[in-house]
Amino acid sequence: MGKITGFMEYNRQTEEYLPVAQRIKNYNEFVLPLSDEQSQMQGARCMDCGIPFCTNGCPVNNIIPDWNDLVYRGAWKQALEILHSTNNFPEITGRICPAPCEASCTLNINDEAVGIKSIEHAIIDKACDNDWIVPQPSPYKTGKKVAIVGSGPAGLAAAQQLARVGHNVTVFEKNSRIGGLMRYGIPDFKLDKKYIDFRLNQMMAEGIEFRTNVFIGKDLSDGSLSGVTNDATEIIHPDELLKNYDAVILAGGAEQPRDLAIPGRQLEGVYFALEFLVGQNKEVGENIKNNINARGKHVVVIGGGDTGSDCVGTSNRHGAASVTQFEVMPQPPEKENKALVWPNWPVKMRTSSSHEEGCNRDWAVSTKEFIGSNGKVTGLKAVRIDWKDGKMSEIPGSEFELKADLVFLAMGFTNPLQKVLDAFHIEKDTRGNARAATEGDDCYKTSVNKVFAAGDMRRGQSLVVWAIREGRQAARAVDQFLMGSSVLPR
Ligand SMILES: Cc1cc2nc3c(=O)[nH]c(=O)nc-3n(C[C@H](O)[C@H](O)[C@H](O)COP(=O)(O)OP(=O)(O)OC[C@H]3O[C@@H](n4cnc5c(N)ncnc54)[C@H](O)[C@@H]3O)c2cc1C
Ligand code: SF4
Repeated sequence: MGKITGFMEYNRQTEEYLPVAQRIKNYNEFVLPLSDEQSQMQGARCMDCGIPFCTNGCPVNNIIPDWNDLVYRGAWKQALEILHSTNNFPEITGRICPAPCEASCTLNINDEAVGIKSIEHAIIDKACDNDWIVPQPSPYKTGKKVAIVGSGPAGLAAAQQLARVGHNVTVFEKNSRIGGLMRYGIPDFKLDKKYIDFRLNQMMAEGIEFRTNVFIGKDLSDGSLSGVTNDATEIIHPDELLKNYDAVILAGGAEQPRDLAIPGRQLEGVYFALEFLVGQNKEVGENIKNNINARGKHVVVIGGGDTGSDCVGTSNRHGAASVTQFEVMPQPPEKENKALVWPNWPVKMRTSSSHEEGCNRDWAVSTKEFIGSNGKVTGLKAVRIDWKDGKMSEIPGSEFELKADLVFLAMGFTNPLQKVLDAFHIEKDTRGNARAATEGDDCYKTSVNKVFAAGDMRRGQSLVVWAIREGRQAARAVDQFLMGSSVLPR
C-alpha cells in the first residue's frame, strides 16, 4: 500500500479550477491537475483495503489501490499499465466521470474519499505528455470481420478490444465526426476534443477503419430522426451489413430526447438541449442545423441533470443575460446520511462547475406552457410542485411566469432510436432498449443471430464509464462467439 499512516497525515486535496471570470471567457478546460508531488501525497492516503470497495464501485472495476500505490512510489508508467488494463479511455473518465468509486471509498465513511479521479487524471496526462501511449496492433489476424454501429465510448472500446485480438473492425457513424456524445454532447470546457482525436489516431494505427456519414438502417425519408444529430449521406441496410460481416455490435446510444408536449412547444426558441450543444461542439466547416446563440438572451433550461448543466455552462460562455434551471424534483439534501447509503451512490445536492458560473436553480417546478409573440418564445408559465410519498401535485395558487428568449429541454433521453432496432428486427425490453443480458453464455447477444448490443443502446441513458465497460464486455462476447474462446478480460 501507499504510506501506512498516509490517510491520517494528509487531507484530501481536490483539483482546483481557474476563476469563474477567467474561464467563462472561452471554451477551454479549466481544471488544474495536481502536481506530481500532490498526486503522490493523495496516493499515499489510500489504505489498500482488503476489500477495495472503490474497485467494486467503479463500473470498469479499475484496480485503484494498485495505481494509488504506484503513484505514491513514483512508478507512473506501471500505474498507467494498470489503469489501461481495465479502461481504454482514462483520458476521458479522468475528466468527466462522476467517480462512483469515490462514493464507495472506505475513507468516505468517516473522512474524505481518496481523490481517485484526480490521480487517474494525473497518470493519464503524464502519459500523454510523455508520449507513453503508442499503438498496440495485433501481431496476428483472425480474418474475421466485425461491424460496429456507433462511435461513442461503447463502440470505440469494443472496437479497440476486438482489433487488439486480430479482428478486422469497421466502425460506422452517421455523424461527420467520431466520438458519439463525447464529441457532440459534452462541451469542450469539460473535455477537450483533442483527447478523442489522440485516441482515434492510436486506433487507426491499430487497424480500425472508421466510416463516417453512414447511417445503418432502412431509410431516412420519414423524418423520424428529428431532434437527433444526423449528418448521414449514405445508408447501409442491416441485411447488407449482416451479409458482409461475421458479427455486428449495435452501440448507437439512446438518442431519443424526452419532449415536453405543452402549449407553445412549436415556438421558435424552444429547443432540445442537444440541438444547442451540438451546434456549439461542431467545428467550422461542419454542417450546423441550428446556430443557436444565447448572447444577451434570458435562458431557461428545463431539466436538472448533466445535460442541463452543460447548457448552463455553454449559455454563460455565450454571454446570456440570465440563466435559470428548473428541476421537477425537490431540492435534495446538502449531505447524504453515509451510514445509510455508503458504499452506494448517494442522492445529494450536486453543484457543478457550470452552476458555480452563474445560474438560478429552481426546484420542484413544472412547466405548463410556453408563451410567445410572432412565433417566438418570450416566456413560460410554470407551477410549483408538492411531492408526497413519491407522488407530485401542483400547489394551488403557485403559478408564475418567467421571461425566456431561449428554452432548452434537457429532461433526458427516453430510449435508443427505435428505427434502428426495428431495422434489425431485434427484441426490445420494456423501455425500448435492445434486449441483451450481461451475464451468462449469451451475454450481449440480441435476439438476432450474430448481432450484439452494448452501451446506452442496451442499458438506456447512462455514463461514459458504463459504456466503456459494456463495449469491453461485448467485445469479449463477440470474440468468444467468433473464435470459441477469448483472452480478452471480462
Ligand atoms: C450533454 C451530455 C453530457 C453528458 N455528460 C456526461 C458526463 O459528464 N459524464 C459521463 O460519464 N456521461 C455523460 N453523458 C452521458 C454519456 O455521454 C453517454 O452515456 C455515453 O456517451 C453513451 O455512450 P454510447 O457509446 O452508448 O453512445 P453515444 O455516445 O450516444 O454514441 C452513439 C453513436 O452512435 C451513432 N449512431 C446511432 N445510430 C446509428 C446508426 N443507425 N448508424 C450509424 N451511427 C449511429 C450516433 O450518431 C452516436 O455517435 C452526457 C450525455 C449528454 C447528452
Ligand atoms: S476504498 Fe479507498 S482507501 Fe480503500 S483501497 Fe479503494 S481508494 Fe484505497
